[in-house]
Amino acid sequence: MSRENEQIVTIDGPSGVGKSTVSRAVAARLGYTYLDTGAMYRAVAWKCLQDGVPPDDEDAVARLLEDINIRLLPPEKDGDDVRVLVNGRDVSREIRSPEMAMAASRVSALGTVREKLTRMQQEMGAAGRIVAEGRDTGTVVFPRAAWKFFLDAAPGERARRRAEQLRLRGQEVDEKKILAQIIQRDRDDRERTIAPLRAAPDAIHIDTTNLDLDQVVDRILSHIRT
Ligand code: C5P
Repeated sequence: MSRENEQIVTIDGPSGVGKSTVSRAVAARLGYTYLDTGAMYRAVAWKCLQDGVPPDDEDAVARLLEDINIRLLPPEKDGDDVRVLVNGRDVSREIRSPEMAMAASRVSALGTVREKLTRMQQEMGAAGRIVAEGRDTGTVVFPRAAWKFFLDAAPGERARRRAEQLRLRGQEVDEKKILAQIIQRDRDDRERTIAPLRAAPDAIHIDTTNLDLDQVVDRILSHIRT
């Protein structure tokens, strides 16, 4: 497979499929930078909630976007999520709640938000050597990426993984509620008009339901290396 940008890897897929952990590991193994695009939608959602702006009020969200500064920094220690600063404030922990994920899904349906974040992501990836993770990184953000992967897994398994991840962070979880949120978020992400969640036609599909992290990472690396 040879495309214009040999040094961009995209990893897309639905919520809770393990994209973040897999993408971080692939980036570390390749010596590339990991770009968590979902963290940027969560950051916008956080600012909406902070300022009392309804996440689907496009005019108000557009005004809020005019003075938002989002910075992604490497995690403090291995295995942590990226650090996220919104206008200088560290919101890394706050953006990881299930409620923030739902609000992120709502802001992510707005054209103004997608345009701005897509542009920022393309600037971040301009120098190459990145592993970008999200919903539309292979279709819209980096359509010429050299390697595109689409991960999927059964919804029950995704809810189990997400619950485990939140428990490890010390949060209380109701797995049934998480499953319901995952199903709704997937439906909203797949059905929105702009940049819906879907695999790029040239993406390699990996069903991770019965695979552990190392197996998924090895499969991705073996595709890249051959
Ligand atoms: O990946 P994560 O769960 O952090 O993403 C939060 C939400 O942000 C997703 O449910 C989706 O609605 C939105 N998102 C998106 N496009 C991306 C990444 C995330 O629409 N590239």
